[in-house]
Amino acid sequence: MSKIDKPTGASTAAVLAGRREEWTGPVVNPPIWRGSTHLYESEADRIAALAHNEDGHFHYGRRGAPTQWSLAEALTKLEPGAEGTMLYPSGTAALAGAMMSVLEPGDVLLVQDNVYEPTRSIASGLFKRWGVEARFFDPADHDAYAIAFDDRTTAVMLETPGSLTMEVPDVPRLAAIAKDRGAAVLIDNTWATGLGFPALEHGCDITITALTKHAGGHSDVMMGAASAGAKYYAKLRHTAQSLGQVVSPDDAALVARGLRTMPLRLRQSTASALKIAHWLKDRAEVAHVLCPMVEGSPGHELWARDFSGGCGLFSFVLAGHTSEQRAAFVDTLELFGIGYSWGGFESLALPFDAARIRSASAWPKPGWHEEDHLGIRLAIGLEDADDLIADLDRAFATIKHS
Ligand SMILES: *Cc1c(COP(=O)(O)O)cnc(C)c1O
Repeated sequence: MSKIDKPTGASTAAVLAGRREEWTGPVVNPPIWRGSTHLYESEADRIAALAHNEDGHFHYGRRGAPTQWSLAEALTKLEPGAEGTMLYPSGTAALAGAMMSVLEPGDVLLVQDNVYEPTRSIASGLFKRWGVEARFFDPADHDAYAIAFDDRTTAVMLETPGSLTMEVPDVPRLAAIAKDRGAAVLIDNTWATGLGFPALEHGCDITITALTKHAGGHSDVMMGAASAGAKYYAKLRHTAQSLGQVVSPDDAALVARGLRTMPLRLRQSTASALKIAHWLKDRAEVAHVLCPMVEGSPGHELWARDFSGGCGLFSFVLAGHTSEQRAAFVDTLELFGIGYSWGGFESLALPFDAARIRSASAWPKPGWHEEDHLGIRLAIGLEDADDLIADLDRAFATIKHS
């Protein structure tokens, strides 16, 4: 399969990537190599192997085997500009591992105000104990961001779009400012993945995705990945290996299986999400649709400029309503489950309170009505969009009468 080295479309690349013949043998996928100990042929063989720390060389189970190497290589191939990829047992572990690879005690880490909540907790909790100072910034205020840098600022943590509230930051601009000041730029790119937003080509140094979401795609596995360009890959790898990060071959096989259909699933859930978001936009019960793929949503222009794709995840804000009504709304839904995560084949709904997890930017957003602040995030799966719309319609009818 690796014989084809010409540029291909994303779907072709997702089908071909990582399937080296020396790893797959005569079957389509690499077998699941379970193992901790690797037996060397001789003492000389063991000594010779010490010279290698790249995927593709057996050493010990913690450094993986063909099942994990194949997945890591596939992810690297799908991430333009990447030198290599490290795998972690969750997206959160990947975020922590990537940040730790560029930070030392005494450093300042600038963190986008609307990042995924565990990212915020790692930065302001765990890192504080280690003497790293986290400073949160409003991604829309470029001047405040520029002056937040000082000579201790070594890294910036971005996410696009921001979790829950879905604003798209101007990543190329924020990255250029950071680069000017010598800081490493990290980004959580779980939403669009490298397929929809090639983050390294947009100025980032390390891009992190929760494979639990789109790559896994079936809500049955947890994993994370961090891919870096040449400048940071050695540091990223060394830190992950020092932390003992490894994923099971069974889980790697599940994620690799999901990866083959990821572009197809993303296209389908994106199309459904667009249909549903437009339908919501016209509802009197909805004050704001927060879906960067839809005109009029915060960040739409930047999405249109920088992205070539999206996914089924977006939010909306109820016009007025009480939190009891919001709870009744999600309780009434039958096709949308109530639960964390997203990117699976099934749709989910999650009420959220954005004010609780921001410190540098306002919620409700400036110019909005004070009472329009109750958000619901929808993860659109692979059901028929019309069935999902009928479900939402029923739930709106219920709260009208409550
Ligand atoms: C879910 C999620 C993660 C974390 O992934 P886990 O595998 O659940 O730890 C990171 N970033 C974003 C934006 C997410 O939505």
